[in-house]
Amino acid sequence: MAKRQTFADKVAKVKGAGAPHCPVCNEILVVVKVCQSEQNPATSRTRVVERFVKVCKCNSAEVFG
Ligand SMILES: [Zn+2]
Repeated sequence: MAKRQTFADKVAKVKGAGAPHCPVCNEILVVVKVCQSEQNPATSRTRVVERFVKVCKCNSAEVFG
């Protein structure tokens, strides 16, 4: 049975699984996919790069803007 997963569901699930915590803020580290556009200085072409980032309170502001 497929069920749409919300961000809150994901966090709750991760909580239950004993996910890694940030040693600094003690929040659960949530892995999110971040799309960034990156310009290649050699070709001046912009491409979108997808990265997986572990987010907690420490870096959520810089990851989500
Ligand atoms: Zn943290």
